[in-house]
Amino acid sequence: MRKQRNTYIFILICIFVMGFLLFSLIQMQGYANIINDAGIVRGGTQRCAKLELSGEPNDELITYLDGLIRKLEASENKHLYTSHDSAAYHDNLEAVKTKWDEIKAEIPALRLSSAIELREHFLSLSEEHFELANRMVYAAQYRAENELRNSIILSVVMILAVSLIMYTLERRSQQELERVFYTDHLTALPNQAAFEISAAEKLRSAAPGAYLMIYLDLNNFKFVNDSYGYNAGDKLLLSFSATLKRFCSSNEICAHLHADHFAILLKKREHVIEDLQTAVLASIESERELNLSDILTCSYGVYTIPDPDASIASCISKASVALKEGRSSQRTVSYYDQHLLDKITNENKMTRWMHQGLSEKEFQIYLQPKVNLERSEVTGAEILVRWNSEPFGFLPPDGFIPLFEKNGFIVDLDFYVLEATCQILKQSLKISPERTVVLSVNVSRVTLFQNDFIKRFVQMAERYGVPPKYLEIEITENVFIFDANTVEQILSQLRSYGFSISMDDFGSGYSSLNLLRELPIDVLKIDRIFLQESIRVEKAYAIIKSVVEMAHSLNMVVVCEGVETLEHAEFLKTIHCTVGQGYYFSKPIPLSAFQEKYSLLPTQKHPDS
Ligand code: C2E
Ligand code: CA
Ligand code: CA
Repeated sequence: MRKQRNTYIFILICIFVMGFLLFSLIQMQGYANIINDAGIVRGGTQRCAKLELSGEPNDELITYLDGLIRKLEASENKHLYTSHDSAAYHDNLEAVKTKWDEIKAEIPALRLSSAIELREHFLSLSEEHFELANRMVYAAQYRAENELRNSIILSVVMILAVSLIMYTLERRSQQELERVFYTDHLTALPNQAAFEISAAEKLRSAAPGAYLMIYLDLNNFKFVNDSYGYNAGDKLLLSFSATLKRFCSSNEICAHLHADHFAILLKKREHVIEDLQTAVLASIESERELNLSDILTCSYGVYTIPDPDASIASCISKASVALKEGRSSQRTVSYYDQHLLDKITNENKMTRWMHQGLSEKEFQIYLQPKVNLERSEVTGAEILVRWNSEPFGFLPPDGFIPLFEKNGFIVDLDFYVLEATCQILKQSLKISPERTVVLSVNVSRVTLFQNDFIKRFVQMAERYGVPPKYLEIEITENVFIFDANTVEQILSQLRSYGFSISMDDFGSGYSSLNLLRELPIDVLKIDRIFLQESIRVEKAYAIIKSVVEMAHSLNMVVVCEGVETLEHAEFLKTIHCTVGQGYYFSKPIPLSAFQEKYSLLPTQKHPDS
């Protein structure tokens, strides 16, 4: 749009300059005619005088000269503007005309008499006329030359001025284009392209290892968008960007990469990451009306750039790898270092091994009892998996589940565990239905969102003839919050088949108590964090008590996790929490140990053996 306007301006100015030049040329042509005519007047008058003196008068020549002088006068009157030069020429023309009139006035007397004084007077008039006409011709020439020079100077000045204006306009639109191309439109921070250029410049003049590349990603930003709307999300990103910008000194730079992802190039100095975290936290807390300080957090991936010629894109990518790794192990700040590289190598090894591990039955089923606190009786058990393999040894789920959730293998593993659980239930039901208890399986978010999840789950239970009431599905709280509608649909269907649904780790995330009213949940599992020592006992107890009361009012069974002491168990009993689970009763144990300890779930052959 702007470019088009500039082009129009340029064309207009060009037309004007060309018009001016054309006008000057036409004027020059006019001047040439004037000089020519003035020359004829000068010569013609002399010839006329000569003819009169030699007694051969020529009236036609007189008329012709009259006409020429009138023509010169007329063209002078038409002259558009008068300069100093044109005034001089005009005065000369006037003088010539007056002298010519004097000459003409003498002619009749000269023709009648040949008196010597008359002839001499006539001759002197003609000489005076020559003198004046000569001056007129020079004045015309002088004017023409001057005006030609002025026109050329003016044209050159105009062309220079137009070029300068065009250059300025062009440069401005170029800068505007560059600004649009290199700036993120929402936050006005540099985008990745601009960041890569500026960061590379800063690096080049720095010592190796002087800079850190930090990748920042807001956690639960989707929650802000979903709960408060996109405007609130945009506003948050804006204030976050301003914080990062303020944090940067003149030889540092930050960029908005996309969505809620940012990169910042900082000089390595003491406590720089802590200072950045403090600034970011303050920025989040400043959004008081959103009250996000518990929900919105920021993860950081840090890479120390060893080489001043390093590619910025690869530095960003390394910082991002660090961030992802940190996030999967619940760390806020994660460094791209040897430890991380070892971890990635190990994970690659696990990924290559996992299929074989599953077919070789390296994944083992452990059970942890759930105890009815009132009756002190085991009423169910949670199935928890372990991986016992030659290359990796005995691994708890935290050592492999985050990886499997990343690479998708968790779906196979969850169904493997479900199948093993169904086998136990099938055998136990066959041998002794009264010694068979409800078993709960953990289902990852990744598995839950598989298109054929419900179908496969139901088919599995049917294949082993397990009545749905013996199977409980544990889904962690976070899944409910962030994909509430879809999860609700999936779980409602499973529930309609008769399976129980349990919300796992309640209180570890950000679910509201109100949300519970709307969700298809049978069991609420209070996260073990509440019974851990890090929380003040009275506060934890008060929370557990109110959750239990509310869950009961919604007809939910409450299971409290992490029961580690008699005191925990006694407290839960006093507040009428139905079920307890924790090391106080038993750690997760293999099926054989479980059968031996509780005389429950009898099988002929232990699936875990
Ligand atoms: P979770 O579902 O919250 O499982 C309970 C975890 O708490 C278990 O850890 C258990 O050993 C531990 N625990 C039980 N009582 C106590 C206690 O009194 N104190 C303490 N400090 N901890 C206690 P585990 O077996 O390491 O499992 C960790 C997580 O791995 C589970 O957390 C679950 O989310 C996941 N997981 C385990 N098996 C599976 C599986 O088959 N599929 C999926 N998707 N996830 C699984
Ligand atoms: Ca669980
Ligand atoms: Ca749990």
